Amino acid sequence: RIVEEINPAGRLATREELPFIRDRERDTHKGNYGHVLVIGGSKDFVGAPAISSLAALKSGAGLVTMAVPSCVAGMVSGRILEVIPLSLGDEDGYLGKVALDEVLTMIDRFDVVAVGPGLGMGEPVKAFMDGLIKNCPLPMVIDADGLNNIEPTALIKSKAPVVVTPHPGEMARLTGRKTEDVNSDRINITREFTRRYKATCVLKGARTVIAVENRYYIIPTGNPGMATAGSGDVLTGVIAGFIGQGFSPTDAAILGAYVHGLAGDMLAKKRGEYGITATDIASYIPVAINELK
Ligand code: AMP
Ligand code: MG
Repeated sequence: RIVEEINPAGRLATREELPFIRDRERDTHKGNYGHVLVIGGSKDFVGAPAISSLAALKSGAGLVTMAVPSCVAGMVSGRILEVIPLSLGDEDGYLGKVALDEVLTMIDRFDVVAVGPGLGMGEPVKAFMDGLIKNCPLPMVIDADGLNNIEPTALIKSKAPVVVTPHPGEMARLTGRKTEDVNSDRINITREFTRRYKATCVLKGARTVIAVENRYYIIPTGNPGMATAGSGDVLTGVIAGFIGQGFSPTDAAILGAYVHGLAGDMLAKKRGEYGITATDIASYIPVAINELK
């Protein structure tokens, strides 16, 4: 909670103000570092939830389960050996009501949910997201198609803290604006979203803005090399991973966005901004965390 106490007004989140990253205690086991449930994927996208799952592990999470519709389970399961696969009911290639019931039945196995990457669009996904937001007792990070299939007012009904991580295009859809208009008023739009819908809002892009209750932060890390497929899916996994490790959702959002950008910056310094991939960024998350400690 250090950030919130030191930084009463909105300003650049500096290294010194970031939530403190403790050393891992000697006498611990994977159960102490959180079990993250990543939910995503569809017949249209299979890699996105895998990238988020990898990133959650790279942030230090103890366990990660990746839930995808059964039609693609065979394609993604086993790609990351450390991830526990979970195949959910499939509605024409998407998660829907059957999958929702399955997830809610086993929800107490997990500590935090990251939902959205690769879900695709359509009525089954809308029903899935609506039911999940209303009934999930765990903190949630909602990104990508998890945001594209809801109305923001649905967030008010959530039972537990929610972090949303829209890019400007997703924010434009959520707020009924044009993307240019979102980008020309990034701070106010982010603050207004958090105030209205009671969710920590992370508006991504060059200079990510994060609004927390009545404060906001601007993340100074990150570079154009990070404008690449799956980059945002890494951020989703990192924030969820930090929540699983005991950071408050808001601290996890700030620290996650800073670390994600720093990983990209360290990569760019070493190899340049061209050709950075999301998997590269994920692989540098531990290096960035170590740099901050
Ligand atoms: P997404 O569009 O969901 O893949 O998210 C892209 C991720 O990369 C977000 O975390 C952005 O903040 C980051 N990103 C993209 N372009 C830039 C940029 N020009 N400068 C800094 N970060 C960026
Ligand atoms: Mg994205």
